[in-house]
Amino acid sequence: MSQLKKRVFKGAADGPVFLVTGTVHGNEKCGTAAIGRLVMEIEAGLVSIDKGTLVCVPVCNPRAYALNQRQAEANLNRVMVRHSAPTLYEHHLANELADIIDGCDFMLDLHSYSSGVRPFLFLDTDTPAHRAYAQALGIPYWITGWDDLYADAQDLNAGDTMTYAKGAGKLGILVECGQHEDPAAILHGYHALRRALAHFGLTAAYEDAATAPPQINRMTKIITKDKAGTFTRAWQHLDPVAKGDAVIQYDDGSVLAAPEDGVVIMPAPKAESGTEWIYFGRADS
Ligand SMILES: [Zn+2]
Repeated sequence: MSQLKKRVFKGAADGPVFLVTGTVHGNEKCGTAAIGRLVMEIEAGLVSIDKGTLVCVPVCNPRAYALNQRQAEANLNRVMVRHSAPTLYEHHLANELADIIDGCDFMLDLHSYSSGVRPFLFLDTDTPAHRAYAQALGIPYWITGWDDLYADAQDLNAGDTMTYAKGAGKLGILVECGQHEDPAAILHGYHALRRALAHFGLTAAYEDAATAPPQINRMTKIITKDKAGTFTRAWQHLDPVAKGDAVIQYDDGSVLAAPEDGVVIMPAPKAESGTEWIYFGRADS
């Protein structure tokens, strides 16, 4: 019986299969939360997969996740090989995960760690493609040299997700998003995921809030509700408007138009008479 729950989102156009995995270690839940946010946004139409296929496995070790501990019977990130005669719980998970990894082109594996706040990634395999992928993720700290360090200790190194992915010919990176309990780790993981999807062309370009310059708008005009009317559309805060656009249709037949090119600010369609109904603003620096 299948242990792993998958969510699959297909774009309208053909493209690569991108796999994101969370909670390979049961107490590293930031990836699950980051993936959960993205799934919610896709379902709400806030993020669209333009091409290719996104495969999400939010919880790779369900039993350890439920126990909030690293593993149930074995460290999944040390037994991530195919097991012809599985005996331990994680052996079964590894077999399922192997099938899923085999079906992808690119992979992102989200983990967290026990001490420290800096998100980092492992550049285990140093090729131009891995460097470009790592660069795209926006993770400020990279760790390399793992494979060399463990060259003489294969039993400590074999059987992890990235070694499996590499052996299967897949381009993958493992990100340590931050400390297990740090809420910021969820955001680091989320931003990395969004950047990875953009890097491989599944979504439009993505700039996360942490690195994008602020978009500043200056409030220039306030409209209080002085007579009955309705918004010409369901205005959202910071929707752009052009000078002359009809913004409010009054019941008496007249129209309130945007005073200049800019944005609407804090529209309140249910405002009481005499209170703030909508504001206008324009880009400022
Ligand atoms: Zn881990």
